[in-house]
Amino acid sequence: MNESTTSGVSAALRNLPSIDELLRSAAAGDIRREAGERRTAEIIRDLSDSLRGELIRREEIGVEASRAELFEKILRAANSAWHSEKEKRTRRVINATGVVIHTNLGRAPLSPAAITAVVGEAAGYCTVEYDIDAGKRGKRGERSESLLCQLTGAQAALIVNNCAAAAFLVLTVLARGREVVISRGELVEIGGDFRVPDVLSRSGATLREVGTTNRTKLSDFAGVLNERTAMFLRVHPSNYRITGFTEMPSLCDLATIASENNVVLYEDAGSGALIDLAGYGLSGEPLIAESIRAGADVVSFSGDKLLGGPQAGLIVGRRDLIESLRRDPLYRALRVGKLIYAALEATLESYARDNAETEIPVLRMIAADAEHIDARVTEFAKKLSDELPAGFNVSVIDGRSVIGGGAGPDIQPATKLLAIKGKGFSAVSFERRLRLGTPPVIARLRDDLVMIDLRTVNPNEEEELLFALSAAAGRSA
Ligand SMILES: *Cc1c(COP(=O)(O)O)cnc(C)c1O
Repeated sequence: MNESTTSGVSAALRNLPSIDELLRSAAAGDIRREAGERRTAEIIRDLSDSLRGELIRREEIGVEASRAELFEKILRAANSAWHSEKEKRTRRVINATGVVIHTNLGRAPLSPAAITAVVGEAAGYCTVEYDIDAGKRGKRGERSESLLCQLTGAQAALIVNNCAAAAFLVLTVLARGREVVISRGELVEIGGDFRVPDVLSRSGATLREVGTTNRTKLSDFAGVLNERTAMFLRVHPSNYRITGFTEMPSLCDLATIASENNVVLYEDAGSGALIDLAGYGLSGEPLIAESIRAGADVVSFSGDKLLGGPQAGLIVGRRDLIESLRRDPLYRALRVGKLIYAALEATLESYARDNAETEIPVLRMIAADAEHIDARVTEFAKKLSDELPAGFNVSVIDGRSVIGGGAGPDIQPATKLLAIKGKGFSAVSFERRLRLGTPPVIARLRDDLVMIDLRTVNPNEEEELLFALSAAAGRSA
């Protein structure tokens, strides 16, 4: 180590600005307004410490780093550190993937009416548990529950945090310490760590598997009945299908032997549907009203899958059973808050006035046919071609969207995709730039093309998407 370098490093260290000086700068003031005093000081101290280490190791910074340069460097780093910290909050994105119920992107986007109910009615003080007429404490969730009864024909309803919580509550309260009979073909994993055998064992119930993976008969259920049998459990396999040589007893036939033997028939319908979606190819989804009519004692399903509302676990069924779920202390731990009730009521009201298909975003997206999407995407592609720098190629190609959320895994609605190919940059880098923009645009990648599916893009987001695409193209050209 020669002498001039050594003294150079210590000069650089001597030039390191003090934390106080840094905090007094205008740039630190900008961070402080958002991050607060304490967090700003922490960020700046951390960066200053690591810069000191860097200077000592004589890495990166030349020996002649001036005070002004170091000052600038730390504040620039602090700004970008705060920026990336801030971006970790829950942020709005444009979903251009064509996956309608995208679990990673928050499943169902709320309807305008549901958003208004959350923001305008429930966010502040509200009547979540207050009876205006009586001027005293009211019943939580009364409106949601009565709408669910109207829409499904069930006697009673109860709402918990999600469908996994619903299954756990039902099994714990109605089958703990006793046997639950289920077909081997329905011992499935739904994804996101929901495994039927695990939920069953955590609830304290004993699993009694019957039949085989592909075929289970009514006599298989009847054959294992004993004094410890609490329940017959049907689970909708959701994102999994057994096809070919298969057999399952109907809910109706199971209901008959269940009631004869004083056994509860419970169906975990998963996504479930409140209206018939067979016209969109979704004939595999249980209609909740039909399950109730067929004699299921309890049915549970998600609020944010095909229903198109907020995250919630909806339980409907026989009054005596629902009331015993409500009385259990576990329900208190799994209940939902006022924001969820408000969004759910507004969503269910769309169904009650028969406007779900036009008002609920997921249903509208599923219902959009390829021709309608073609018209939108062709118009969009024209505008985009005018915006993009030379060398970019925009085309409209045939593709498939995905329903998602475990519904209709074998249904992939035809769509028209916008395929973008740039010159001199990879699709991977373009896709990344879209993701890192504001708002982030989540697109698909295929064959070195970036694919945009307008099925999942709200028409009022198109202008923003256009801007995001041209900004990303400008930066990557
Ligand atoms: C999705 C699903 C669940 C879990 O629902 P969440 O609302 O995500 O908790 C449970 N059971 C079935 C059959 C499902 O499809």
